[in-house]
Amino acid sequence: MRQPLVAGNWKLNGSLESVSALLAGIAAQISTVGATEVAVCPPSVYLQHAGQLLQDTGIVLGAQDCSDQDQGAYTGEVSAAMIREFGCTYVIVGHSERRHIYGESDALVAAKFAQARENALVPILCVGETLDERENGQTEAVIARQLDAVLASSGVEGFGKAVIAYEPVWAIGTGKTATPGQAQQVHAFVRDRLRRQDEGIAGGIRILYGGSMKPENAGALLQENDIDGGLIGGASLKAEDFVAIAASGT
Ligand code: PEP
Repeated sequence: MRQPLVAGNWKLNGSLESVSALLAGIAAQISTVGATEVAVCPPSVYLQHAGQLLQDTGIVLGAQDCSDQDQGAYTGEVSAAMIREFGCTYVIVGHSERRHIYGESDALVAAKFAQARENALVPILCVGETLDERENGQTEAVIARQLDAVLASSGVEGFGKAVIAYEPVWAIGTGKTATPGQAQQVHAFVRDRLRRQDEGIAGGIRILYGGSMKPENAGALLQENDIDGGLIGGASLKAEDFVAIAASGT
C-alpha cells in the first residue's frame, strides 16, 4: 500500500509574510488530510524560515531544485547537502520549467538526482511530454528517455527512495488537465518500465500527477490505480485548495 503524497511547488512566489500566512493556513487544516503525506517546496531562501514554522505540524519540507555539484566555483547554485542541512526531506529535480526554460538536459537532471540521493534527500523526478510530442505520438518515447537517463546513472536501486512526478508540459499552469485515463496510462507505463528491472521498487514507488490539479479534478485523478498523489503548482498557493486536494487522496 503506497502512502499518498501531495507536494506543493511554490515556484518563484512568496515573501516572508506570505510564506508564514500560507503555512499557518495549511497547518490549521492539516487534520483533514487523513493518511496523505503533505509536503511544501518553497523557494530555497525561505527553507529555513519555513522549516521553523513547520516544526511539529507533520508537514514535510522540500526544495525545488539542487545543484549537480557538491561544492566549489558554481555561482548561484545550492547543493543537496545545504538543502538537507535546512531540514528538507524532498527535492524536485527535472521540473519542466528547468528543462525547458533553463535548458536542463536529461544528463544534468540525472546528476542532480544522484546528488539528492547521495545527500539523503528523496528526489521527486519530474518527467513529461510537450503538446507537440503528445500529438506526434512520442509521449512514451520521451518519458522512457527521461527515465532511462536516471536509470543509467543511478540504477534501478536509485528509485528505491525516490518519487516520480508525471507532469505533461501542456497541462502545467495552463488550466488543461490530463484526463484520469490519460494520466493513468502514462503512470502505468512508468511503473512498468521500472518493473522490468525490479518488481519491488516498481510496486513501492509513488508516482505523482502534476498539471493543473485542483480540488475539482483531484478526486478522480487520485482514484486511478497508479496515481499516488500530486505535485501541485498554482493551487498550492491557496491553503484551502491545497489542503482540499490532499484530502481527496485518502
Ligand atoms: C507544477 O509546476 O509542478 C505544476 C503542476 O503546476 P500547476 O499545478 O500550476 O499546473
